[in-house]
Amino acid sequence: MNLKVILDEFSKVAQNPKQQLDNYLGAGKKVILVAPVYTPEEIVHSMDLVPMGAWGADMQLQEAKTYFPTFICSIVQSILELGIKGSYKGVSAIIIPSLCDSLKTLGQNWKYAVPDIPFIPMTYPQNRKPDFGIAFTKAGYQRVIDDLEKVTGETFSDEKLIASLAVYNEHNQVMRELAELLAVHGEVSAVQRSDIFKSAYFMRKEEHTLLVKKLIAALKENEPKKGRIRVLTSGILADNPDFLSYLDVYNMQIVADDVAAESRQYQQDAVDGETGLDRLAKKFADMNNCSVLYDAKKERIATIVSKAKATKAQAVIVILTKFCDPEEFDYPLIKKACEEANILSTLIEVDRQMVNYEQARTILETVQTILSKQSPQ
Ligand code: SF4
Repeated sequence: MNLKVILDEFSKVAQNPKQQLDNYLGAGKKVILVAPVYTPEEIVHSMDLVPMGAWGADMQLQEAKTYFPTFICSIVQSILELGIKGSYKGVSAIIIPSLCDSLKTLGQNWKYAVPDIPFIPMTYPQNRKPDFGIAFTKAGYQRVIDDLEKVTGETFSDEKLIASLAVYNEHNQVMRELAELLAVHGEVSAVQRSDIFKSAYFMRKEEHTLLVKKLIAALKENEPKKGRIRVLTSGILADNPDFLSYLDVYNMQIVADDVAAESRQYQQDAVDGETGLDRLAKKFADMNNCSVLYDAKKERIATIVSKAKATKAQAVIVILTKFCDPEEFDYPLIKKACEEANILSTLIEVDRQMVNYEQARTILETVQTILSKQSPQ
């Protein structure tokens, strides 16, 4: 398969999740929506259910405004809007984690706004690393299992969970390998890169792993395109095609990302623990470098700078989802750390209701003008 054909496969899935949902339902599969972030997909997968990512969509919000004040982030609001409008018809349940204040309110509103799709809460502890935190996480997973069994009639087995953890660990590994290759291969556009990551939410992980392996093989045979401006993107979500196309217009290559919907997902494997559920709880405890995970010393900030240095990124572009307080708290620290490391940084605010990215375009044009005077690394 040639590179373009493979990249088109990812784009087809990423740009039409409804078709994927219909395909799985048509094949007799039960589908469970998994809202961001770090929702225990592995449990869903192990029960022979299809986990499907629910990160909302770029759309005008109408019905969701009845339930939310305007200052709640648009990712959360658009998930509810899609639920109310029937876009998720046919799914068996939605799992919503509690990792930020907006997500906490989503679950409560969902119960009333979308009563035909059961809401399953996943309550995470603030202190995830001590033994008591791991035990709390494990109890939360047990609650998810009980609710899934009730709603779907399927049964959970730890043996099957261990098999699913292996599938997810392998997927993590290929995604990490791919991210490294994409730092070299400038011929993959920002839009195509986003589609690769985004499609992972709408495919069973073993299917996605197979396609990523084909992509890795094709990239290794391809002559890398060099000379583009090297940037690191950071944020919760960065999937709007209009915004991403401006990165391409201004000749920018994403050489690394610190995006919650992209590489942050794949940092940690589930390996330590006696049972599958122990391993999954330990995996969450061991996760780091994310604005929604308690990080008293803010070690995430130094990690962004070292990732930028390691990949020779010339700029850090923070894509801030409006009203996302976990990300807003970290931004001044990222800016300061980049200044100290002599790396250009910039902030672009986005939300799912935006139709005009001209302000982002102007910022990126300025970044290009500054950086094009530097010689490529
Ligand atoms: S974008 Fe921010 S506020 Fe919205 S769900 Fe994610 S972490 Fe929460």
